Amino acid sequence: YPSLRGKHAFVSGGASGIGESDVRELAAQGAKVSFVDLDVERGEKLAQELNDSGAQALFQRADVTDITDYVSKINNAAEQLGPITVLVNNAANDKRTPFADVTVDQWDTEIAVNIRHHFFAAQAVAPMMRGAGGGSIINMGSITAHLDFPNLTGYVASKAGIEGLTRTQGREYGKWNIRVNCIIPGWILTEKQLEVVAQPGDIEKLISEDQKIPNKLYGEDIARMVLWLAADDSRNCTGQKWVVDGGWM
Ligand code: NAD
Repeated sequence: YPSLRGKHAFVSGGASGIGESDVRELAAQGAKVSFVDLDVERGEKLAQELNDSGAQALFQRADVTDITDYVSKINNAAEQLGPITVLVNNAANDKRTPFADVTVDQWDTEIAVNIRHHFFAAQAVAPMMRGAGGGSIINMGSITAHLDFPNLTGYVASKAGIEGLTRTQGREYGKWNIRVNCIIPGWILTEKQLEVVAQPGDIEKLISEDQKIPNKLYGEDIARMVLWLAADDSRNCTGQKWVVDGGWM
C-alpha cells in the first residue's frame, strides 16, 4: 500500500466497525490519525494502543449530530496534529423503523447522523486542505441506497444524498486539488452486524446460506479502498462512487 506519511487523516465513528479498521490501517501506513466517537472507552483504548506502537493518534469524544461541538473537535485535532488532509465521513446509525412510525425528531436525528455531519466536516476541513495544497474527502455510502431495503427510510435517503454531495463537492473543490469520493460497502460483518444478525457459531451457516454475495467476502476490505482514495495514487479520481460489495450489486 502507498505510504501516507505526512498526511493527517480524521475519521468519524472511528472506535469500532469499519471506522476502527480505517483508523488502524491509516495509522499503519504512516498517517497521523485523529478520530471521534460516542464510545469513549473503545476510542481511548484504540488511541493508546496506536500511540504505544509508535503511531500518532488522537481520540476525542464527539457526537457528530452536535455540529458546533463536532467542528470544534475537528479544529482541535488540526491544532494538535496539523492540517487535516484526509477526511473519512464514516459515522452512521441505521435504526430500523417502519415508515409510518418515523417521528419528526427521529427523521431529524437520522439525517443529522447520516448526512449532515458529512457536509459540515467537509466545510471545516476544506480551507485546511486548500492551504496544504490539496486533500481527500471520503464519504461512506451504502448499498442500501441502490436496493430495496424496508424500514430504513432516513438512512437510505441520507446514503443516496451522500452520493450527490460527493459529486457536487468534487466539482466545487476540484480547483483546490481536494478530491471527494464515496465508498459503497455491501455487507461487512462488523462486531455490531454480527450481534444483530447472528449468534456466535451461526456465522458459518449464515455465510453458507447467503445468496447475495457471490464472492463470499464480508470482511474489512473497505479500509483498503480508504487507503487508496487517501493516497496520491488516486489523484485523478473525484466525484466518484466505489462499490466494495463482493459482487452483490
Ligand atoms: P458500526 O455501528 O459498527 O460503527 C459506527 C461507529 O460510529 C460506532 O463506533 C458508533 O459509536 C459511531 N457513532 C454512531 N453514531 C455516532 C454519533 N452520533 N457521533 C459519533 N459517533 C457515532 O457501523 P459500521 O458497520 O462500521 O458502518 C460504518 C459505515 O459504513 C457507516 O457509514 C455505514 O452506514 C456504512 N456501511 C456499513 C455496512 C456494513 O455492512 N457494516 C454496509 C453499508 C454501509
